[in-house]
Order: sequence, then C-alpha cells, then structure tokens
Amino acid sequence: MKAVETHSQTDAVKLGARSRVRRTLSLIIPMHNEAPVLASLFERLDAVISELGVAAEIICIDDGSRDGTLELLRARALADPRIRVIALSRNFGKEAALTAGIDVATGDMVVPIDADLQDPPELIGEFVGLWEQGYDVVYGVRADRRSDTWLKQMTAGVFYGVFNSMSASPIPPSTGDFRLMDRQVVEALKRLPERNRFMKGLFAWVGFRQVGVAYTRPARVAGETSWRYFQLWRFALDGITSFSTAPLRVWTIVGLAAAAVAMTAALALIIRVLVVGRDVPGYASLMVVVLFGFAVQMIAFGILGEYIGRLYEEVKGRPLYLVRERVGFET
Ligand code: UDP
Ligand code: MG
Repeated sequence: MKAVETHSQTDAVKLGARSRVRRTLSLIIPMHNEAPVLASLFERLDAVISELGVAAEIICIDDGSRDGTLELLRARALADPRIRVIALSRNFGKEAALTAGIDVATGDMVVPIDADLQDPPELIGEFVGLWEQGYDVVYGVRADRRSDTWLKQMTAGVFYGVFNSMSASPIPPSTGDFRLMDRQVVEALKRLPERNRFMKGLFAWVGFRQVGVAYTRPARVAGETSWRYFQLWRFALDGITSFSTAPLRVWTIVGLAAAAVAMTAALALIIRVLVVGRDVPGYASLMVVVLFGFAVQMIAFGILGEYIGRLYEEVKGRPLYLVRERVGFET
C-alpha cells in the first residue's frame, strides 16, 4: 500500500486551524436499491453525528430505485428534519447522483458516502479532526480490499496504473468517493462544466490541501452491488478519456514506428530481389503485415470514436440529472 501522508499537531499551525463550532456538515448518500441497508445506515449515522456535535444535513439521492427505497426515505424525512431527499427521474448513475447532492449541499464540510456502509461512518470523526487542522480535503484510502473479488482488485490496480501514467492530476490509488471536502473545494467542483463526471478524477484535479486516512473496507452489509463489469469498463474509459489525450496522440508514434518498420522491410526486400532474384513465396508474411496494419487502424479509429462520442455528449449539453421530487427542502 502506498504510504499515506502523515499529519501532526504542528500541521495545524502551518495550515491554519478551523473550529467545528457552529459549522455544518452535509452528508451526501447516493442510493440505488438500498432499502435493505437503510435502517442500519441511519442508526450508524445518528451515532456519529451526535458524537461530532455539529449540525448536519443528510442528503439522500434516490437514483431511480425500484425496491421502495424512496418510500422509506420519504417516511424518514418526515420524521427527521435533518434528512433531505432528492429523487432523480430515473437511474442516472452514481456520479450523477453525487453531483445532484453536491449541487444542493449547504454544509461547510461535505462528505459523500456510500449507502451500503462500505465507507464506515465512524471515520468521519477523524476526517473532521483533520479538517479542523486545516486540510481542505480528507480522503479515505482503502488499506485492505479483501472484501472485493480478485478480479475487481486486479482490474482496479491496472486502471490506477494506466490512469496515473497518463493523467496530469494523478488519483491516489485505492481511494473512492468517500472523503470530506471543505466548502471552497465544493464550490470549485461546482464550477467544472463537464457532463462526463468522473468524480475521483475531478476531486484530484481541483487540488487544495489534501490528506489521506487509511481504513479497511468492509463488505456490503446488505443488498447487492449495482455495478456490472461492463459498467466498470465504461467508467474506466470515461476516466481516462476525460483526463488524458495520450491515447489519441500515441497513434502518431505508433504510425511512425510502423512506417519505419515498413520502410526497412521494403528496402530489405528490394535488396534481396536484386541480389537473390525474384522470390514467389511470401504470402504468409504479406498477410501478417496486412492484417496487423488493419488491426492497428481499427484500434486507432476506435479510440477516435471514444473521444468523438464524448465530445458529442459535451456538445449536447444536456443536464446531468433530472429531479422528480424533493423532500425536506422547504426554504
Ligand atoms: N449507486 C447509485 N446509482 C447507481 C449505482 C450505485 O446511486 O447506478 C450508489 C449505491 O446505492 C451505493 C453507491 O452508489 O450507495 C456505491 O454502489 P455499490 O455499493 O453498488 O458499488 P461498489 O461498492 O460495489 O463499488
Ligand atoms: Mg458498495
């Protein structure tokens, strides 16, 4: 595991300390079919919030659930003034749900957290402590991913390697969306205009004073994950294409290299014909070259397509999400 930055009391002086007195905390919880976890989620959140002694708002975004999550949330919001509910008009995906939450959050500290308790709410106390010391972003680092399948661990590892070798704003490996952000950082995020919300990348891009806190990621308490491997693939591509143009530019180099190889081969062939005479066999090598060239071109086209598709998405400028219902926002 990558070492997490250390922090000490003297950092408070260096960074400029804050006080949690009269500050507010916004929790942002995207939810897609999370009915089975709601009871334990709110129980754990309640305990954490009362221990922290800050005023809190709990923003739940129902991302098109079909299992009665919204009904349960409505009932809770009526009984608990801290709970606010935004119901999206359909399933827009976690990134859009998070954006919807960030757009309405009013707290001095904003914490996106998963509904399934894989992001332990108890860690928020530590986050707030570091925020008081002056850090603008405190992110959770998953020290132990044993709760994920090996395939997910491996694909995640490859993704971070590829992403960080291409992007100018690297993502600390094994971080997720679970973090505490200062209001300044939230305002900065809200100014980013892109439709394609690869949150982890955007979080890294904004900068500010960031620090990691290691934690062990437990398994989901109940319900099931909404991610499919195909979605993770789309997600990884979104991340890379929105933070790097290296896959586009690399084709110039591949093309030049291929051209150099082809020139050398042509030269060798000409010399060979001149020296040895005409040579009839060669069908196999010819086919290899033709097929290889064809494959390289197809990949290059595919990559162009990935970027053009995303340009098209951005140009259309559609809203990231549509809200069908808001509960608890009477202002
Ligand atoms: N989620 C969402 N919309 C989706 C998929 C997921 O709002 O389309 C929420 C989900 O309810 C949970 C969080 O995003 O609160 C993380 O999802 P999940 O636990 O399924 O992902 P994993 O932990 O397996 O990465
Ligand atoms: Mg989960």
